Amino acid sequence: MSLTLADARIATPEGVHDGWLTIEDGRITHVGHGPAPRTGHSLAGRLVVPGFVDIHNHGGAGGSFPTGEQDKARDAVALHERHGTTTMVASLVTGSVEDIASATSSLADLCDDGILAGIHFEGPYISKARCGAHDPKLLRRPDPGEFGELVKAGRGHVRMLTIAAELPGALDTIRTAAAEGVIAALGHSDATYEQTIAGIDAGARVATHLYNALPPLGHRTPGPIAALLEDERVTIELINDGVHVHPAMLRLAYTVAGPERTVLITDAMAATGMGDGTYVLGSMEVSVKNGVARLVEGGSIAGSTLTMDVAFRRAVQQVGLSLAEAVEVSSLTPARVLGLDDTIGSIAVGKAADLVVMNDSLEVAGVMRRGAWITEP
Ligand SMILES: [Zn+2]
Repeated sequence: MSLTLADARIATPEGVHDGWLTIEDGRITHVGHGPAPRTGHSLAGRLVVPGFVDIHNHGGAGGSFPTGEQDKARDAVALHERHGTTTMVASLVTGSVEDIASATSSLADLCDDGILAGIHFEGPYISKARCGAHDPKLLRRPDPGEFGELVKAGRGHVRMLTIAAELPGALDTIRTAAAEGVIAALGHSDATYEQTIAGIDAGARVATHLYNALPPLGHRTPGPIAALLEDERVTIELINDGVHVHPAMLRLAYTVAGPERTVLITDAMAATGMGDGTYVLGSMEVSVKNGVARLVEGGSIAGSTLTMDVAFRRAVQQVGLSLAEAVEVSSLTPARVLGLDDTIGSIAVGKAADLVVMNDSLEVAGVMRRGAWITEP
């Protein structure tokens, strides 16, 4: 069965144009300019962008991936889907090795079903000095053997590890990750500039939420932020909720790294899509007020209540990116990080029909995943 979407403004890697597209068996089969050659579903001039790819997300709709509860995880995925995220990695937090392993093997089922695109270990091999919302009592010294066992629990679905490069054993663990096909990400780290470079040389390729849980830039102590920004091998994650990072600092990172090395993430937690109140993130109690999540104990920011449509909209309206640039950092570049850019991440013939329809104020009017409407515009 073939579906034509007509009267659209289509955002492709080349820019935005008026046109139409057809979808067959979940894939995009034509992308055309101007009026459609056949009648189809009119989008009345609305914008179509590729479905968002979120590589760092702890949950939503009351569900928290670190618990490993499958029904709750499905609720979280469904919430983010309604906000345009059609590919999502489930992020865990620091926990006991047993808890991480059991959540991982449970979430691996959802990866088998194509609901999740992988699992991200944020911790337990991170810095006590920069642990943010992670339980300092459960932090561990990086151990390649132990990490290898955790990867096994994921049956091939563990996609990313956030690790602090300065810890003893970290470089060997980064090498193990690279050998296992797991992306090593540097973050929650108190490393120096030089220690960070050593982590990148060992194989780390992503910066976990740049600026947050890292020592600040100093002109005599450049630290991890400068090392990560200037290295062409590293892709930079940014939480664009206006709380975690000031728009000026986001522009600074983007100016250095460019669209091919910048990805917007949500770092969303269970409260996303819910009201203010008390929630948990791993073993930590979190209080959400006016949409800002903070640890009850100590007040550290504890994830966000961001969705990718809001991150996208803010990128255009507050940060000043063009539509094409915003599309690149919220779809194509994160897809490339995951090695999935041949099948998702842009509106192109042969790719999955993962689409977000937006109105003029860049609010979501419809979402399609693998050719099926999640919400029909
Ligand atoms: Zn996180």
